Amino acid sequence: MTDRRPPASPATVLCALLGSPVDHSGSPAMHDAAFAATGRDARYLAFDVSARDLPAAVRGLAALGAAGANVTIPHKERALALAGEVAPRAQRSGSANVLAFRAGRVVADDTDGEGFVRAVAEAGFGLSGVTMVVLGAGGAARAVTAAALAAGARRVLVHNRSAERAVELVSRLDPHGRRLRAVGRHDLAEALAGAAVIVNATPLGLRPGDPAPLPGDQPLPPGALAVDLVYAPHETPFVRAARAAGLRAVDGRRMLVWQAALAWEVWFGEIGPVEVMARALDQWLHRRAGDGP
Ligand code: NAP
Repeated sequence: MTDRRPPASPATVLCALLGSPVDHSGSPAMHDAAFAATGRDARYLAFDVSARDLPAAVRGLAALGAAGANVTIPHKERALALAGEVAPRAQRSGSANVLAFRAGRVVADDTDGEGFVRAVAEAGFGLSGVTMVVLGAGGAARAVTAAALAAGARRVLVHNRSAERAVELVSRLDPHGRRLRAVGRHDLAEALAGAAVIVNATPLGLRPGDPAPLPGDQPLPPGALAVDLVYAPHETPFVRAARAAGLRAVDGRRMLVWQAALAWEVWFGEIGPVEVMARALDQWLHRRAGDGP
């Protein structure tokens, strides 16, 4: 691909990734390819930053005139406390994956949840009025649950290996338990039977040999959409099991691409080039798996 950017100069815009570790992240590949393809005079660099150094790193980026940053594990909640302004999406999810630096102010936002909503819509499904089942109760589960509630989901049922974490997620996002409920192993079959969207928000599938996040004999409702937040160059165990049961299924690549494209909207006021980012992510995933150029 042709790099349409001018050579780096004092006018070049900086965007950064702050996390620890950061070498697992496809964000530099996606954003740099998008800058190169559009000719935007910008560079994207990943920094491995400890929790202790995060405030200084954020202040430093602001002082350097950076346009923005992505924040990844383990700093997504911590980043909220460092912002002078928190966008409604980040308030809802209680975490931030995007920071924007605007005239000395740090603005925190969350595009993970809306990335998920866009990926679901692209697959031909809507969240308004539906029941969604989420497997897992960590940061990603919280982001997609908050976004699904904001998009009008009727109910979100959360199942997690450690039940107390599912209960904690529910009480944090829906203290009165009107639309959110934690479900245990014994209620899972009933919950799945009524679901229109089923989400794997556990890391199961990330490593070769990982089992699917649901037992093989667990019946899945054939008309539903299965969304695996795990992204991989090949079919994940959850996507494979869902397709075998007749469901439509997508992995986490589209959500990841959309959260990056929507981060551009926060930084630059326009959505990033989704398909350029998608191609760059695929190439990066294949390279990392050792089967790409
Ligand atoms: P997290 O905060 O560490 O939460 C992980 C969750 O998975 C916890 O609820 C944990 O249960 C559960 N879990 C972990 N190992 C498990 C196992 N062996 N069996 C059953 N449950 C298990 O992680 P996260 O940030 O939410 O991320 C979860 C996944 O989503 C990761 O694979 C990440 O790559 C992916 N993700 C994708 C995107 C995207 O854009 N596609 C964005 C964010 C995250 P316990 O509470 O019992 O430990």
